[in-house]
Amino acid sequence: MTLARREFHLFQASGRDFAYLVPSAAIFALDTPSAAVLRVLGEGPRSDEAVVVALGDRFDADTVQTAIRELVDVRAIGYEHTPDPKPPRMLPMASFPLNTMVLNVTNQCNLACTYCYEYGEDKIVDTEHGQQSKFMSEATARDSVEFLLKESGPSRIAHLTFFGGETLLNFPVLQSTIAYARQRAAEVGKTIDFSLTTNATLLKPEIIEFLAENHVGVTISMDGPRELQDKFRVFHNGAGSYDVVAPKITALLRRHRSRPIGARVTLTSDTLDITRIYRHLTEELGFWEVGFAPVTTSPQQQYAIGEQGFDRMLAQFRALAAEFLACVAENRHHGFSNVKDTLEEIHKGVSKAYPCGAGLGLLGVSTDGDVALCHRFAGSDAHKFGTVRDGIDRDVQRAFLAQHHIDDKTDCSQCWARPLCSGGCYHEAHVRYGTTQRPNLHYCEWIRGWTDTCLQIYGELSERNPEFLARFDRDAVKAEAVL
Ligand code: SF4
Ligand code: SF4
Repeated sequence: MTLARREFHLFQASGRDFAYLVPSAAIFALDTPSAAVLRVLGEGPRSDEAVVVALGDRFDADTVQTAIRELVDVRAIGYEHTPDPKPPRMLPMASFPLNTMVLNVTNQCNLACTYCYEYGEDKIVDTEHGQQSKFMSEATARDSVEFLLKESGPSRIAHLTFFGGETLLNFPVLQSTIAYARQRAAEVGKTIDFSLTTNATLLKPEIIEFLAENHVGVTISMDGPRELQDKFRVFHNGAGSYDVVAPKITALLRRHRSRPIGARVTLTSDTLDITRIYRHLTEELGFWEVGFAPVTTSPQQQYAIGEQGFDRMLAQFRALAAEFLACVAENRHHGFSNVKDTLEEIHKGVSKAYPCGAGLGLLGVSTDGDVALCHRFAGSDAHKFGTVRDGIDRDVQRAFLAQHHIDDKTDCSQCWARPLCSGGCYHEAHVRYGTTQRPNLHYCEWIRGWTDTCLQIYGELSERNPEFLARFDRDAVKAEAVL
């Protein structure tokens, strides 16, 4: 009988070999004989006997046979006459509960960030001359709360995220919505968790007080030290925003201590200085964590990140990830959230049929109450999933999910990173290729390189600080306990 390798990705950590098994998204620590068997089969399919012979100078036959059995059991290898059964294509249940609603309380912004996907050439919705209101009304926000409470189904906790434009331009509606949502959630026996994203320009003592008192999670969009922030994050008159936001952020971080406050950095080809940005935001401004995302734009833009930029970005991500590992191995905090988020997915064995929660457990709501695939599509008729008043259009949702399943992304079918990537962000795909259905093939090398790095860190931590990884289980149990 002929043995052959199945789908896995080999990596090394703590001086050991590991295999990331693609069909199950599980990680298998390899002992020396198992690693040797995989290497032999890496040269091509062979019979059991041929593998035993090839390794005869290092291991006895029983040891090799045991390794073969274990590898067959975890489906790292298999016999050619019994191909791995393809798992049936599973579509989510028809009434998938809504977990997170992102409310675009305004589509207006007091900054004019050069790269912004809402206002540049890549925009999907015309917020200046289109039909959507510029600000969400209190009535629409209340309808949205009712929608969230209803569509969250049996879940006892739901998440409401305020978004923009610049969210705080509509602070009065944000304020009244939180009060209303809290009261209505209590009446129906649920809890709502609140968060928002802001550019920080409009923070002032009363707003900071409100956010702190109401335990609102805050993410600040910010690009780093003055010269990097002021390259793209400018006011309409072209003036940089650093000197306006820095003292406001310091005041926020001083007062709002009930939840960790994070920065979200948009990376462009002109601002790829990740370690410096991280240091400034954590050590000089005091953010608890920092997440980085490459700018979403068409490749023609001068600030788009090209192939060499992705290589540079990966090298810098790896350097910061190594620092993360050194800290976490000694139980010290490190705020590089990209690595922590990926480690959590690896630990939980996440294997995605869809790249993110958009259209599934996460939906965006436009200023007029149209429900959309996610916040980045809010107000787009082509990506509308109903309205907060009429509910989710389950036929549209079903059709979307049927058309976007990973099984239909043939380019991804041989990729070992697909359990975690699943083709990547719909919005990025729409901007790059004009359709949400295409996988983001322009950044595959970056995704695979970064996933490999995170797998190595996972392997290292599994040896050096398994307790850190176990916390992901406890967090999950805590979350389930409130559900
Ligand atoms: S988009 Fe690229 S990296 Fe992602 S799953 Fe598809 S082939 Fe793999
Ligand atoms: S589609 Fe993209 S922007 Fe929208 S939720 Fe998913 S990852 Fe985020």
